[in-house]
Amino acid sequence: ATPTALMVGTGRAAKMGVLIKDGQALEEINDVKTAVFDKTGTITVGKPTVTDIIGNQDQVLRVAASLEASSEHPLAKAVMNAAEEKQVEPQTVTDFAVVEGKGVQAVIDGQQAFVGNDKLLADYQISAGMKRRMATLQDEAKTVVLVGLAKQIISLIAIQDAPKPSSAQAIADLKARGLKTVMLTGDNERVANAIAKEVGIDQVIANVLPNEKAEHVKALEQNGKVAFVGDGINDAPALTTANVGIAMGSGTDIAIESGSIVLVQNDLRGVVKAIDISKKTFSRIK
Ligand code: ADP
Ligand code: MG
Repeated sequence: ATPTALMVGTGRAAKMGVLIKDGQALEEINDVKTAVFDKTGTITVGKPTVTDIIGNQDQVLRVAASLEASSEHPLAKAVMNAAEEKQVEPQTVTDFAVVEGKGVQAVIDGQQAFVGNDKLLADYQISAGMKRRMATLQDEAKTVVLVGLAKQIISLIAIQDAPKPSSAQAIADLKARGLKTVMLTGDNERVANAIAKEVGIDQVIANVLPNEKAEHVKALEQNGKVAFVGDGINDAPALTTANVGIAMGSGTDIAIESGSIVLVQNDLRGVVKAIDISKKTFSRIK
């Protein structure tokens, strides 16, 4: 494209809330074969809320909120909101630690406590009944967080984060343009599959640890150019690795810096707009 055509294209995109930081991204997005999406905050709204608590609500929320008070994770925010709503006061903990992609741990009242997924609580016994309830909740697209205290699992907390209303349309539009759509998430595969089904995503890669996202993007590049769309700190390496990195405007600063396209309206239909503008911009000179 001529420099003028490129300017017109990026200008038109900007008006639609699609910020294109470099012309090469606009050129490359037209050749993308696979669109890969982070789940939380990208496909979903990113405002998870607690829907179910199995066990003694006050005790569970007291332990969970005391640990999650020091976490920045969206799931932690959901737990803190639920505790506040039920007027449960978090208490001070010691030895707090984040376990990447798994959850958090700390000592509360002299007892070791955990809040996280089944990988974090691998050493704990989960009863068959609890496993069943967990699976049922996950099939309802709810992320299940386990609360462990003094070597016992005392509760399951189910947390729901709905897809953005526009996500299904965006996925359908991308598929109509011949792209394959993939979800890449640290969440459990039952939850991931349930959300994928709701929005029409073709393939799910779940249980991905934060440092593994970029490797998956590289592997998917074997089948042609890849666009990766994400919002989190842990999405930054995948955003720079992908042929085209697309960040949500609501995302963390690191994600926004790492992307070459930013979707100001946090709406995945922006990916479709970018592709359509790319097509127009780069076909004029042909
Ligand atoms: P994603 O943002 O794709 O869900 P993460 O790596 O942030 O990926 O988290 C993966 C999983 O680890 C979560 O689905 C959850 O089960 C668990 N987890 C991470 N952080 C926390 C936390 N602060 N509290 C509870 N669970 C957590
Ligand atoms: Mg995210």
